[in-house]
Amino acid sequence: MKLKKEIIVMKFGGSSVADAAKIERVAERVIRVKNTSSSSVVVVVSAMGDTTDELIELSGKVSEEPSRREMDMLLSTGEQVSIALLAMAIQKKGFGCISLTGNQAGIITDDVYSNAKILTIVTGRVLKELKSGKIVVVAGFQGVTQAGDIATLGRGGSDTTAVALAAALNADYCEIYTDVDGVYTTDPNMVEGAKKIVKLCYDEMLELASSGAKVLHLRAVEFAKKHNVVLHVRSSFNDNEGTWVMDDNKKTDRMERPVVTGVTYDTNEAKITILGLEDIPGIAARLFGAFAEENINVDLIVQNVSEGGVAAISLTVKNEDIAVARKVIENLKSTVKFSSFNIDPDVAKVSIVGAGMQSHPGVAAAMFDILAREDINIEMISTSPIRISCVIRKEKVKLAVKALHKGFELEK
Ligand code: ASP
Ligand code: MG
Repeated sequence: MKLKKEIIVMKFGGSSVADAAKIERVAERVIRVKNTSSSSVVVVVSAMGDTTDELIELSGKVSEEPSRREMDMLLSTGEQVSIALLAMAIQKKGFGCISLTGNQAGIITDDVYSNAKILTIVTGRVLKELKSGKIVVVAGFQGVTQAGDIATLGRGGSDTTAVALAAALNADYCEIYTDVDGVYTTDPNMVEGAKKIVKLCYDEMLELASSGAKVLHLRAVEFAKKHNVVLHVRSSFNDNEGTWVMDDNKKTDRMERPVVTGVTYDTNEAKITILGLEDIPGIAARLFGAFAEENINVDLIVQNVSEGGVAAISLTVKNEDIAVARKVIENLKSTVKFSSFNIDPDVAKVSIVGAGMQSHPGVAAAMFDILAREDINIEMISTSPIRISCVIRKEKVKLAVKALHKGFELEK
């Protein structure tokens, strides 16, 4: 891939900096890039290994309900450790390097602690350090509110830091170094024949990330799309070319494109069904309004045809939201008429994603046929222009993913 190189942003996840030896390897890799290109290099790192989880566990021993502000104060320390160590390792090898916290790097966020959004990046300090020839190591996952408090960007947020910095610095591209070789046609831990995808467009990556592929933070992809940042997802343990994520509307690309690019799954969903709902205007608005108020993300929604003035609605939420969702529905009893509801955590969602399906009819039918042949019952269906998702029994998820991956000819 030929790209003009001026500023490169390299991001390393927690598993790539899990111990001193790995930090050393990251330092070598960064130096190699610095030496072989004429570019300025900005490095973004996550906290070492499972540090963030360990800090969360620790907070639980002190308080059952720690305030979000203090949680961010605590969690942001993980990245502060890794930037300092990486900077030391790079300096030891004789290269100019400086570490910067989110605050020092000018990453300004809103004040939604634990899930803050980046408002702007004041790049002056980073640019100044780059101009002096230094490698700049920035803490991922954190920024500073306008009031000067530390806020974090949500779990996995270092990807977003890297992409946002790449956009703000007008970098040529942003490399996301991780513990896998790139984005795969499906989970390689589940399906042996999964293969690495060479190139994806932003919309495909967005659909893959939001339907279960864990390799990139969803917000990072949204950011990349909005600012047209070219992403290269690759392994930090080898030199293989990874997966490129970029805008592509060239005709030639479209012609070569497979109909289905990837198969994803999500076992972290629960299906809620509300029966005997009064079928009058405003009921859905009240129901989903109540979910929104509690910050519950609803994924799939199905409403059946009403009979005798009553309807049923099924929807899915994340497993961690089940308890709150139950409360929300119970509290609705006073304002919304319904006969009963049930919550079923034993479901999974399987999805097929591909920009090519826009111009190919019959993809949904093919998917349903593949599932039917495996005797898998479809409980809910949802679609976007480039994705089809089915909710099925959780115990069938592996069977479904394997069959779809094979059926759409994605196998190696
Ligand atoms: N350390 C944070 C987390 O584990 C951010 C990241 O890894 O991207 O969620
Ligand atoms: Mg992490």
